Formats: sequence, structure tokens, C-alpha cells
Amino acid sequence: MLFRPKGTKDMLPEEAYRWQYLERVAKETAAAFAFKEIRTPVFEYTELFSRGVGGTSDIVGKEMYTFLDKGNRSVTLRPEGTAGVARAFLENGLAGGAMPFKAYYLISAFRYERPQAGRLREFHQFGAELYGAEGAYADAEVISLADAFLKNLGLKQIGLKINSIGCKTCRAKYHEALKNYFAPRLDEMCADCKVRFEKNPMRILDCKEEGCRRFTADAPKMLDYLCDDCKDHFEQVKALLTVSGIEYETDPAIVRGLDYYSRTVFEFVTSAAGAQGTVLGGGRYDTLLSDIGGKNVPAVGFAAGMERLLMAMEAENAPFEREKTADCYLLGMDGKSREKAFALAGELRRAGVSAETDLMTRSVKAQFKYADKAGARFVAVLGEAELAEGAAEVKDMKNSSSEKVKFSELGQYLLNRR
Ligand code: ATP
Ligand code: MG
Repeated sequence: MLFRPKGTKDMLPEEAYRWQYLERVAKETAAAFAFKEIRTPVFEYTELFSRGVGGTSDIVGKEMYTFLDKGNRSVTLRPEGTAGVARAFLENGLAGGAMPFKAYYLISAFRYERPQAGRLREFHQFGAELYGAEGAYADAEVISLADAFLKNLGLKQIGLKINSIGCKTCRAKYHEALKNYFAPRLDEMCADCKVRFEKNPMRILDCKEEGCRRFTADAPKMLDYLCDDCKDHFEQVKALLTVSGIEYETDPAIVRGLDYYSRTVFEFVTSAAGAQGTVLGGGRYDTLLSDIGGKNVPAVGFAAGMERLLMAMEAENAPFEREKTADCYLLGMDGKSREKAFALAGELRRAGVSAETDLMTRSVKAQFKYADKAGARFVAVLGEAELAEGAAEVKDMKNSSSEKVKFSELGQYLLNRR
């Protein structure tokens, strides 16, 4: 027996409809906001992530799947979607096209983490990117898209938390204040936080260790240190959310795990029991594109974790729309009718009706059992008499009534009644 790698999951056909539903709602919501899909490689040169995601992030520090390929190049399975999109935007000269650039992605991402509920080594994200607009409208648009997506999924027990982490200028003063606050407590904090203290003290606020968290509530708050421009920007984002009827809560503890954020940061958090906290996170990252070698292009976006959304939907009992089952099962009672059933299935499919037929030479009884289990709405029975007549006995599985229908009229008959 061989097993799947730790921290990965199989998506089985029986649950495929759930994933298809999530992806369909994601695509439809993105289309409503005129965001187009972008697909980039699953792996990139490692340097993209070390520069784009940032050296002090958990991702680059300890979570990346990095290896040398046969040509001795260091490559990394993407741990998130933004860096690849930003690289593609620059490399393909999209900055010369219509602005703002608006794109969404549906991807799997890879992080070497300790697997647990809602935390996998291969997981899936729906994300959106908006480049080229520096004003608060862009932030509000991206948050509106995230909000609409979650509402369209039928999720209700979800709250939006927003914060501003300022710009490089105002954050410098804030870092000083944080260092003054944490310095006398540093001995009691985790090893990671000791490194964060030196490199990026704000990241301490995102620590998940209980020992560190007890100090973070009373730490200085970025909102008290914002420069006038950052303050105005944040006030305008909040005003736009309010006029759009999107409820939010300002939470100074939201700092996000990646190095590239500036100004607005936000998270959508579920309160449904049994679901894993943050289902979607995002913010503004105005320095990302220049960090990876481009010119200054302001950027804002988000990423949602699909596995966590599935958990939240299950916890809330939110309905998944099921994919269609076959409209008609064609049942052949003997050799000749089996062959006719096979040919008719092809005709029905060309007419736009989904059809299934026996592929395992089963008995009549076993075929009925299969059709019932598969959820076929109609079963068209063909035997010697039916072949002679050129008509099938069509059984409506909903009410057990049945009717003779000519082979040539079967497609139209089913289209009218399904
Ligand atoms: P966390 O703080 O939970 O580790 P993060 O800040 O690392 O999350 P992001 O990089 O912002 O997460 O990714 C966006 C979303 O992707 C998260 O809100 C979450 O829903 C999902 N996500 C992140 N890492 C994982 C993972 N290992 N397994 C499943 N989903 C994940
Ligand atoms: Mg993480």
C-alpha cells in the first residue's frame, strides 16, 4: 500500500460538487466585479518568494517547499498566489495595458506546516489582485469582492476585521514604540518572537504562542501612530465600506503574516464552531512590485482558503448546490437492446440530455438498482418488443409512472420533462 503525503488530501468524486460549487461562486462573483482569471506556474524561482513574500515571514523562514532542479536552479512550489501574479504582470508588460489591472486566481499552494484541521501542506486558494490604483476605492473594491463572495456562498457567521499598518515612514516610529514595550518582556517570549523583535517587531502581534499573546493585547497600537496620509486613507476605506452596507470591526491585532503589506489589512473570521478562524485575508502592498524588480505600482488583494471555507460551510450548514446527475439511464434487457441503448445514449447527449448506460453487462435488476443509486430521473427500458416497436418504455423515477416514447422523439421528450 502507498499513502498520500502527510498534509495532503484526496478530493473524491462524491465530494467534487462541493469544490465545483465553491469555484463556480468564486468565478461568478469575480465576473460581477469584472476581474479576469490569471494562471501562473505552480513553481517559481525561489528568489521571487524570498524577495516578494519577505525574509521575516513564517512562509519564507520555515514553510517553503524549495529544492534544486536537475539544472541546479533553486525552485519553490508556490506558497501563495500574489508573488506569481505580480511577476507575471511585470514580465508580460501588463502595466502598459488598461488600468487598474484586475485579476483573480484559483490555485493550490504549498507550505510545510504542521498539519491539522484547516491547515494543510497542499491547500487551495481563491484570490484577487488589483494593481495600479492607490486610492481607498481600490481597497474598498477588493474588500467588497471578498464580502460578496462569502455572502454568495451563503455564509452568515463571518465578521470582517480591518486595520491599518501604515507606511514605511509612520511604521518606523511605531516599531520603536513596540520595541520599548516588548524589550522588558522578551525573556518570557518564544524564540521566533526574539528574532521578530530584531527584524520586524510588528510581526510579534501575529504570534500564535499563548506565552506571547498575553502581552500583545496591551502593546502600542499602530492606529495611534499613523501619519496624516495613512490616517486619511484608512478613514476613507471605512467610509466606503459603510456606504456599501458592509459591516466591519477595527482590530489593531490584525497585522497579517506576510512582509509586504502596508496601510489596509483585513481578515474575514468565522465564528462557527468547528471551523478554523481566518477564512480570508488580504490588504494593500504598495512596495511588492518594486521589491521584485518592477516600478512602483500600488497593489491590493486578498486570498481565501478553500478548505477553511468548506469547514465553515459545513459548520453553518450552508447549502451546496449539487451537480446534475444523468437525466436518463438507458437500460438494455438483452444483447441487441444493450447495443441500441449505447447508440441512443450518444444521440441523447448530442441533443443536450445527459445519459448513462450499462458498461458492466449487469442484469435488469442490477441495472435498475444502479440507476436508482446514481439518481437518474428517467430510466428508458429497451427489450425485444421495444426494438421491434422503435420505442422505449420510459419510467419516471420520481412517481413511477411510465410511457412509451419513440426513439426518434426521446431527446425532445426528456428535454421537456427533466
Ligand atoms: P494563518 O495565520 O492561519 O497561518 P496565513 O496568514 O498564513 O494564515 P495567508 O498567507 O494570508 O494565511 O493565506 C490566506 C488564507 O489561506 C488564510 O486565511 C487561510 O484561510 C488559508 N491558508 C493559509 N495557510 C493554510 C494552510 N496551511 N492550510 C489551509 N489553508 C491555509
Ligand atoms: Mg500561516
